[in-house]
Amino acid sequence: MSLLEVKNLNVIYKVERKEIRAVRNVTLNVESQDSIGIVGESGSGKSTLAMAILQLLPYNIAEATGEIIFDGIDLLKTSQDELRNIRWKDISVVFQKSMNSLSPVHKIGFQMGDIYKVHKPNSTNEEIKGRILELFKLVNLPERIYDSYPHELSGGMMQRVSIALSLIFYPRLLILDEATTALDVVTQGQILDEIMKLEEKLHLTRIMITHDVSVVASTCKKVAVMYAGYLLELGYVSDVLTRPKHPYTQGLLSSFPSLEGERKDLRGIPGSLPDLSIAHEGCIFADRCKKANNICFVKTPEMVELTKGWKVACHLMGGEDIE
Ligand code: ATP
Ligand code: SF4
Repeated sequence: MSLLEVKNLNVIYKVERKEIRAVRNVTLNVESQDSIGIVGESGSGKSTLAMAILQLLPYNIAEATGEIIFDGIDLLKTSQDELRNIRWKDISVVFQKSMNSLSPVHKIGFQMGDIYKVHKPNSTNEEIKGRILELFKLVNLPERIYDSYPHELSGGMMQRVSIALSLIFYPRLLILDEATTALDVVTQGQILDEIMKLEEKLHLTRIMITHDVSVVASTCKKVAVMYAGYLLELGYVSDVLTRPKHPYTQGLLSSFPSLEGERKDLRGIPGSLPDLSIAHEGCIFADRCKKANNICFVKTPEMVELTKGWKVACHLMGGEDIE
């Protein structure tokens, strides 16, 4: 069953008379207890998609159209009051620098308690402390952290606190936006293992935004590949990361060390992301695609379903004759 349905989502930032099309026509279904990794180069629109789902876009300059249906409610049409209720309780997020939002002069337990009280004003101090210590246990933090200040924690501990905080109301959807990127490989691996265990225990659904394909390969069931605001390929990790069909996904994977650990030459994708404020025709990847043909420069490819759940937006996948 779908927990989240993003339909034809477009997000435009209006800055200095320019319109930056950061998310374009994205349609994505997230089923309950899915774990889906969103990958793509820097600037491909991954964070903008996450911020749209969380309804945390800077609405003074951003315009979002389409539908984002969470549990039957269209988040784009929901009031701020309702959204405040949904965030934390139903959908929560961990950023790379989530801990920066905590005050340096108050102890961790006190600050977490304050957040708990916003949604549960009648809770007792005992109940709050009990919940926080339970969360610490889940993310492998010692109880003493309750009385620590943020500056006393290592990077790994800080991210564990952020994850504990994101789980404070046992949300159904957890969004991790480069949440473990800044950590050393060992700590990142430990935290990702813990997250996967938590997921089973708490029946969480996870969207994981990262530029690191190996993180998706080891922790997600599904993967969505974004480029210049478009979703280009979507499917099970076991399909997309082993037999990528979209030329962009193929290029992206060839710029990472082999997921099986084999030695191979790394190749980047020549060229760079297009200017998102300039209108374009045809396939957004055409200027960098070695397989581009005439039609690619005039017609935008539709998403074609190859097998159940595996979708690719490329003229090579059929539907159009490539000359
Ligand atoms: P990264 O991995 O670097 O975070 P990303 O894939 O998450 O990249 P976004 O951060 O969503 O991509 O950015 C998509 C596009 O939108 C980029 O061109 C970016 O410059 C632009 N953008 C993002 N936030 C804003 C903003 N607040 N104002 C104007 N443009 C923005
Ligand atoms: Fe390349 Fe054409 Fe496919 Fe775009 S539609 S990825 S340009 S082959």
